[in-house]
Amino acid sequence: MVNLEIPRKFKPLVDQAHMVAVEIFRANSRKYDLAEHSYPKELDMLAAAMDGIAESGGLEGAGAGTVGHGSNGSNGANGSAARNGSDSANRNGSNMASLLGLIELCWGDVGLMLTMPRQGLGQAAIAAVANDEQLKRFGGKWAAMAITEPEAGSDSAAIRTTARLDEETGEYVLNGEKIFVTSGDRAELIVVWATLDRDQGRAAIKSFVVERDNPGLKLDRLEHKLGIRASDTANFVLDDCRVPKENLLGSPEIAPKGGFAGVMQTFDNTRPLVAGMAIGVARACLERTRELLAEAGVEIDYAHPPHSQSAAASEFIAMESDWEAAYLLALQAAWMADNRKPNSLQASMAKAKAGRVGTDVALRCVSLCGSLGYGEGELLEKWARDVKILDIFEGTQQIQLLIIARQLLGKTSAELR
Ligand SMILES: Cc1cc2nc3c(=O)[nH]c(=O)nc-3n(C[C@H](O)[C@H](O)[C@H](O)COP(=O)(O)OP(=O)(O)OC[C@H]3O[C@@H](n4cnc5c(N)ncnc54)[C@H](O)[C@@H]3O)c2cc1C
Repeated sequence: MVNLEIPRKFKPLVDQAHMVAVEIFRANSRKYDLAEHSYPKELDMLAAAMDGIAESGGLEGAGAGTVGHGSNGSNGANGSAARNGSDSANRNGSNMASLLGLIELCWGDVGLMLTMPRQGLGQAAIAAVANDEQLKRFGGKWAAMAITEPEAGSDSAAIRTTARLDEETGEYVLNGEKIFVTSGDRAELIVVWATLDRDQGRAAIKSFVVERDNPGLKLDRLEHKLGIRASDTANFVLDDCRVPKENLLGSPEIAPKGGFAGVMQTFDNTRPLVAGMAIGVARACLERTRELLAEAGVEIDYAHPPHSQSAAASEFIAMESDWEAAYLLALQAAWMADNRKPNSLQASMAKAKAGRVGTDVALRCVSLCGSLGYGEGELLEKWARDVKILDIFEGTQQIQLLIIARQLLGKTSAELR
């Protein structure tokens, strides 16, 4: 049975994450929303503090290595939890810790959370598949992930970036274009997906670690965005980009079955965390809206049915219940990951629900608060812009629904697309 009681051991973690959210994220929220593309230097201090806390055993999961838009909470910063088995005896482990920490941090500011140094989706891939030697070289570094291309977004199997082995030099030569790379400009490493042979489909897709300062990795531009402006989003051209063959993650063999599916499963673990990000932003919206409604004389009364209260109070209660459903789905999916239960269906359900609830709640809060909700004097309008990305990356709303339908109907991706 799923136990949804939040373990007491996570209380300090949640408190610390909340403190960071208040003192650093909220305090700098508007500043870096307005100063798009400037690096939030306040985060360097935070990264150092987090390293210290992580070394002392605190804040495991809440930021030290497991945040990023979908970094793999089950493995921690360098995959050590999975590798040394320390997680196995604990049924409320690092997935739950990551989720709870992320909810708090994103209550503060999701854009700043996404650009915390040494986080990132690339680290999840490294943690999941790197060998010991690669872990030593790449573990603990800030790694972004470059999958998306102009012609390959939701259908990541359609990527065109190629990797050719140069037998003489022992290097792979990468050529192609990558777009929308979160932290692509600020990270130290970029994990690039490329195909060894386009004719062999998904099985030939491999990931390669590219140092950010590799001369073959050319920054094309940084995106200007609707929201999460504190987080840099980079587009790259890979022009005869040479990496040592030891930088290929996983096996260089093209195995017809299993390889690509395995990579995709890694991402199932990260979806509850993206759900948690949306849940955090939505909670921020609800809390501020409740305060503004109270100032306007609207009290929410839980002792009476919503239909007997003002329209604003009734709408607020409906939003809260929707939020609760998203929250519980995310807890369930994280709990299942911690308990090594296949959670692909629940992870997609959590992300689909939270992505929708997040955007819906944020916009309705803007409406309920009227001109206050729409103006820059409040953060509500910013949260409404920020939250939308959580319904897009790591698989859009529509893709999550597709995955859910496949699972429920027992169809393969070829049968239902
Ligand atoms: C701010 C930001 C940061 C990002 N960060 C990263 C990153 O770090 N690394 C990375 O690799 N990518 C990143 N992405 C890319 C992101 O993952 C893609 O945008 C996303 O996967 C969707 O791909 P697309 O934009 O090409 O849209 P498309 O795949 O072209 O989809 C367009 C629309 O069609 C819908 N659609 C597509 N296929 C189907 C289908 N079969 N059935 C029904 N509807 C469908 C989609 O849901 C969407 O609404 C980022 C994107 C943004 C905006």
